[in-house]
Amino acid sequence: MKIAVLPGDGIGTEIVAEAVKVLSALGLQLELEHALVGGAAYEAHGHPLPESTLTLAQSADAILFGAVGDWKYDALERSLRPEQAILGLRKHLGLFANFRPAICHEQLVGASSLKPELIAGLDILIIRELTGDIYFGQPRGRRVATDGHFPGSDEGFDTMRYSRPEIERIAHVAFQAAQKRSGRVTSVDKANVLETSQLWRDVMIDVARHYPDVALDHMYVDNAAMQLVRAPKKFDVVVTGNLFGDILSDEASMLTGSIGMLPSASLNANGQGLYEPSHGSAPDIAGKGIANPLATILSAAMMLRFSLNQAQAAERIEAAVKKVLTQGLRTPDIYSDGCTRVSTAQMGDAVVHAL
Ligand code: NAD
Repeated sequence: MKIAVLPGDGIGTEIVAEAVKVLSALGLQLELEHALVGGAAYEAHGHPLPESTLTLAQSADAILFGAVGDWKYDALERSLRPEQAILGLRKHLGLFANFRPAICHEQLVGASSLKPELIAGLDILIIRELTGDIYFGQPRGRRVATDGHFPGSDEGFDTMRYSRPEIERIAHVAFQAAQKRSGRVTSVDKANVLETSQLWRDVMIDVARHYPDVALDHMYVDNAAMQLVRAPKKFDVVVTGNLFGDILSDEASMLTGSIGMLPSASLNANGQGLYEPSHGSAPDIAGKGIANPLATILSAAMMLRFSLNQAQAAERIEAAVKKVLTQGLRTPDIYSDGCTRVSTAQMGDAVVHAL
């Protein structure tokens, strides 16, 4: 089983090192091959997604990804910015289905910004379409001012676009996921305003006919953003487009206490996947040894389950994470009174010990 390990930038290198520690402790035959991506790859090779990194990712059974980005690259032309690496990997590998579970671990109920009764037992699955929508729409660009009043560009535009097959395939993923859970799907759109959303809603209704055992309801994205903080436990499987999913999944992750706890999987039609924490490269805390590695360690567990057919090993990791939380070990982002504050590396070591 060959795994491409792409730590990236900022805390990416710190958290991936801990996930690698955990994977190496399982006693499985795993071939881990590292490569540069994001700002680190730009520095070394002049491009955030060099050909060699892409080739490795394409040939691997799964990809373990940290995070990319740093504010110091904000002035670069967009195609060379670190974030283009993750968009490129999604596009080249056809990773259209993003799974983001938002689970509130009972030991962390106090770390949420919401009242305990609102989030205790929370278990939502957000399924975000990942290769369409406004992030990949054409045309995009900036119009240069012609009236002489503006020194540079004065208008930018991006095109929001979805096709029926793109919506159909993510709809099937969502309905099938719901069949394994509560049998409920909430589709989130903005069909009262956007044509892409009206198509989204029509296709969801069409595909739902193939799944009579799953109940489908629809919600506008502004209402969904509100309901997620008002009564999050009402949701089970949420399916939405790329832009809305980006925002709502970060909102949902915060409900659980910290974005540092939440794993994600991005899968293509063949089950090949890229596994990464839901958060970014956190330049504000990079190099301090305080980042929470659990989202990445739990992403490695998702990788074992979804792409490597090692469900038992995945369960071992998840149980070990539960154990360290029960022991009261906390990185600063999830710390509360009476717990033991630990560093990134100490948290990784504790998970290995628990294994
Ligand atoms: P971020 O997720 O990096 O950080 C948001 C906040 O959460 C920060 O305060 C950070 O310290 C905290 N945080 C994040 N992960 C944490 C962890 N594991 N433990 C403890 N605290 C954690 O988002 P941002 O600040 O908006 O973006 C920073 C950079 O990351 C940008 O360059 C952005 O483009 C990039 N980014 C990359 C990805 C990706 O690689 N998939 C995703 C999102 C953002």
